Amino acid sequence: MKTQAAILVQTERPLVLAELEIPALKPGQVLVEIAYSGACGTQVMEIRGHKGEDKWVPHCLGHEATGTVIETGPGITKVKTGDKVVLSWIKGTGIEAGGAVYAWEGRKVNAGGVTTFQRHSVVSENRLTLLPPTLNMETAVLLGCAAPTGMGAVFNVTGLKAGESVAIFGTGGIGLNACLGAAFGGGIPIIGIDPNPLRREMAMIYGATHVIDPTNSDVVAEIKKIVPTGVDIAIEATGIPTVMDQAVNATRMQGGRAVVIGNARVGLDLSLNPNVFNQGKSLMGTWGGDSVPDRDYPRFGRLLGSGRFPVQNLLSRYSLTQINTAIDDLEAGRIGRPLIDMFA
Ligand SMILES: [Zn+2]
Repeated sequence: MKTQAAILVQTERPLVLAELEIPALKPGQVLVEIAYSGACGTQVMEIRGHKGEDKWVPHCLGHEATGTVIETGPGITKVKTGDKVVLSWIKGTGIEAGGAVYAWEGRKVNAGGVTTFQRHSVVSENRLTLLPPTLNMETAVLLGCAAPTGMGAVFNVTGLKAGESVAIFGTGGIGLNACLGAAFGGGIPIIGIDPNPLRREMAMIYGATHVIDPTNSDVVAEIKKIVPTGVDIAIEATGIPTVMDQAVNATRMQGGRAVVIGNARVGLDLSLNPNVFNQGKSLMGTWGGDSVPDRDYPRFGRLLGSGRFPVQNLLSRYSLTQINTAIDDLEAGRIGRPLIDMFA
C-alpha cells in the first residue's frame, strides 16, 4: 500500500511531497489513517537545520496528530481497528516498536516511533491514546504536543495552586497552552510576554490577565510592576537562553520556580547569576510537561473541551500540499497552531 507524505530530504529546503510504500507491520506497530496533523517549533528546527546535523534524511516528520486505526501489528492490545486515536511524541503505555522504514523511488525513508506529516503512518503502540470523547478530531490534535507540554508544565512540573501568580514567556502554541493551564488551575495574575502583537492578543483570549511587549522594555521590571515580589511561577517557551535567565529572575525569592520548555538552537549556552539559587528560586526542565498520556490526556481533553475558551480558534487549517506554507506561517508567528487536514 502507498501513501502520500511530506518528507525532509535536505535541511534548509522545503519539504518534498512523496509517495511512500508502507512496510509490513512489525510487532507493536499500528497503521493509522491520519485525519489531522499539527506542527510545532520542533519541526521548524528540524527543517531549518537548527538541531545540528541530520543523519536521518530523507525522513518523515511531525509528532502530533489524530487519526483512525486501520490495521494492528502483532502484540497490540491498546487499540483495535476502527478506534479513533491521538498520536503523540510523548510515550505512554504499550509497546515501544521503533520506527518504520518506508520506500520511495528506490530510496529508504526513515521514520521515528511516530510521524504525522503523511496520510497513513506506521506508529508505535506507545504513542497512541484513545481519542477523548470530549474532543473532536481537529481540537484533539492539541493533545499530541502543545497541550500536554504547556498544560503539563503548569500542573505536573510547577504544581500550580489557585491564586499563585504566573508569567509565561513566549505565547506561541505551547505558551498559549500554558496560559490555558494557568487559567484552569486558578493562576492570578497570568502575564503573557511576547514581542508578536498577534500572540499577545491570543494570550488575552486564552487566559492571560496581562500582556507585556518585551521589545525595548525591561521585562522583569515590568512584571514587578504587576507583581512586586516577583511571580510564583515562570514558564519559558521561547528557547532563547537570555529569556530563560529573565524567567528565573522574574520569580519571587524563597519559592519562586521557573520551568524551561523552549528548545534552544544547538550550540547556544545559558548564562545565569548563581545567586538565584541562594535566593531560593528553582530552575526546572521538563520532558513534554512531565505528562503521562494515559493519565493526563483524558483530563486535559475535558479542560480543552469544556467550552471555557475557544480552543478551536487556535488552529489554522492547511492541506498536506500546503504544508510548507504552514511551516512558514508558524515560524513567522502569523498563526497559533497549524492544522494539516489530510483529507483536504
Ligand atoms: Zn510538538
